[in-house]
Amino acid sequence: MFDWLIVGAGFAGSVLAERIATQRGESVLIVDKRPHIAGNAYDHYDAAGILVHRYGPHIFHTNAQSVFDYLSNFTSWRPYEHRVLAEVDGMLLPIPINRTTVNRLFGLELSSRDLVSWFAERAEPREEIRTSEDVVVSAIGRELYEKFFRGYTKKQWGVEPSQLDKSVTARVPTRVNDDDRYFSDAYQFMPEGGYTRMFERILAHPNIKVMLQTSFEEIRSEVSYRRLIYTGPIDEYFDFRFGKLPYRSLQFRHVTLDQPFRQPTAVVNYPQTQDYTRITEYKHLTGQEHSKTSLTYEYPSDAGDPYYPVPRPENMEIYKRYEALSLDQRNVWFVGRLATYRYYNMDQVVGQALATFRRINQSVPVADGRFLPAQIAAE
Ligand code: FAD
Ligand code: UDP
Repeated sequence: MFDWLIVGAGFAGSVLAERIATQRGESVLIVDKRPHIAGNAYDHYDAAGILVHRYGPHIFHTNAQSVFDYLSNFTSWRPYEHRVLAEVDGMLLPIPINRTTVNRLFGLELSSRDLVSWFAERAEPREEIRTSEDVVVSAIGRELYEKFFRGYTKKQWGVEPSQLDKSVTARVPTRVNDDDRYFSDAYQFMPEGGYTRMFERILAHPNIKVMLQTSFEEIRSEVSYRRLIYTGPIDEYFDFRFGKLPYRSLQFRHVTLDQPFRQPTAVVNYPQTQDYTRITEYKHLTGQEHSKTSLTYEYPSDAGDPYYPVPRPENMEIYKRYEALSLDQRNVWFVGRLATYRYYNMDQVVGQALATFRRINQSVPVADGRFLPAQIAAE
């Protein structure tokens, strides 16, 4: 008998396994249907000996010191500030759009102050900013929207930006200075040694047993457990009774080239041409030195593993129905990007998992009836 069964060994499941094992002293069986831990953050050395991410580029960034401090128990860090170029009209230009982007694209020499008015002249006022088109067009106008956002978004999501919630393109800011960093968070790092190494340390506890290539469906009646944490797709858990929740997928093409580097930055986006959305070159992220280089091309698709919840009002309606059911489940917690249908970054999932642990501690006595020390319960 395990105290806990955890489905999914990504950030959500692994962080909760660690907290429960170390802070509550309870036993955990964590299963994942894939042959590895770390969920979508999984990285490994490819045939050429280059550290690559199997499910596309994962860059850690956060403003939450508590999340950074927590993960720092399991890894040291390599400072890394992410920069991305977009291929537009045959040029490689900084995205997020900044002063350099506009000046180079249009052959101008605008100051930051000029650029504020330049954007204002082109911006299309909107009474309400609801969609991913509204966000961009109301800030910087239609021309830049068409060049940088519309094509990329249609490829990535299979729908027009006007059909997506504003939160999607709002992830990418616009700047009037020359700051060309993709993120502006206080903490921007890559785990030294990689994500998988970090997960090995998170899960290295005698109270935690890991079973890979094992799905919830095949194990649920085979093992006994008191409580369940589920981090897979929520619609699947409930046998799709309110219909399928759309999750967008990607096909990845991994290649190794016999040359030291292929592109100037870790990621180049392709908003206008190509079937793929972006190419990632890992050595920029990891700092690894190698005579060859490995890259991943991302081709969006509907079919395949679920990677992205699709933020649209009609999908949120369906999710809300599943969520209502999930709140009625005794001794089951739904956590993570797939189970709470939220377009969360890694740090947000870690934050959600830590918050869930606090709720568990408030509501669930430890297995043998002991009380938790107050400082742990209040953590
Ligand atoms: P997951 O990592 O998806 O883990 C869930 C696990 O559950 C999976 O391993 C799955 O196999 C398993 N599972 C599901 N159902 C079952 C079942 N029935 N039985 C057994 N196992 C099951 N975030 C960032 O912060 N920075 C980035 O740069 C970044 N880049 C990204 C790039 C891409 C292409 C993608 C797709 C995501 C990116 N993310 C990034 C987001 C990041 O991947 C997620 O926030 C994080 O991995 C979510 O963790 P999770 O535990 O919720 O889910
Ligand atoms: N986006 C875009 N053009 C770009 C970069 C992003 O249109 O060059 C839009 C697109 O809809 C994308 C969203 O902004 O899905 C969020 O981008 P982000 O880089 O955060 O995507 P992720 O890394 O999560 O796939």
